[in-house]
Amino acid sequence: MDGSFSGIFLTPWALALMGLCIGSFLNVLIHRMPLMLERSWQSDSAEMLGVPVSLAPEITLSTPRSRCPQCGHAIAWHENIPVLSYLWLGGKCSACKTAISFRYPAIELLTALLFAACGWHFGAHLQTLLWCGLVATLVALAFIDLDTQLLPDDLTLPLMWAGMVSAAAGWLPVTLEASFGGAVAGYLSLWIAHHTFRLIRGKEGMGYGDFKLLAALGAWLGWQSILSIVILSSSVGALVGIGLILFRNHGRDVPIPFGPYLAGGGIAALFFGEQVTQLWLPPV
Ligand SMILES: [Zn+2]
Repeated sequence: MDGSFSGIFLTPWALALMGLCIGSFLNVLIHRMPLMLERSWQSDSAEMLGVPVSLAPEITLSTPRSRCPQCGHAIAWHENIPVLSYLWLGGKCSACKTAISFRYPAIELLTALLFAACGWHFGAHLQTLLWCGLVATLVALAFIDLDTQLLPDDLTLPLMWAGMVSAAAGWLPVTLEASFGGAVAGYLSLWIAHHTFRLIRGKEGMGYGDFKLLAALGAWLGWQSILSIVILSSSVGALVGIGLILFRNHGRDVPIPFGPYLAGGGIAALFFGEQVTQLWLPPV
């Protein structure tokens, strides 16, 4: 991969371009996955209870075609080019001129930026594509959690297995032991924190999705990184939480999803984890 033909596709610029396209797909995933899950839960429970239920029309990641939520205008391919179409259309639907959320191009740009950062940080190796895959899944999880307070098992569990399989295959700079230990330590540490919190405060602080997300991060980054991830996530989470309480009258009892902070903490640990780990773990 080094300096060879395929190396060209792994430069930060090429990865940024790929990130724009993947980001565009993540927008679809973030929007549709909760709808797909809700529909399958409805149909499962209706089947179990034996009651007829009117289900929403079937939806997959590829069908039906994306439409303007306001007027139903089918979005043409040239209106679906990452970031460029948004700018070209002036941020409005071409048919009804309703504003398109700024979040769509923002997620595309964010993914592009993170992919480029992986290229810079890890160099033009095939391994960099694995890190891009991790980062993309984390972006999807963060926004799904933000929207729905859900971290779907359909994303967290495959992410965890992918980390362990990659470690076992020697594709990551993490041994299988460190990866497995990371998954166990990630799950258990939040499980313990959750049950302690519940004993003291008598209410739920986190969800099981958070445990699985930290387990997945542990599988990718190794058990040594768990403490760094938790520290990075909770510092950002605490700052944002205090900010919300102070400036936006966000009730202290309104749950703030922890998933976005875990995902952010995981991405921060991916790039700066070694420095943070060195603060508390003596060098081997
Ligand atoms: Zn429209």
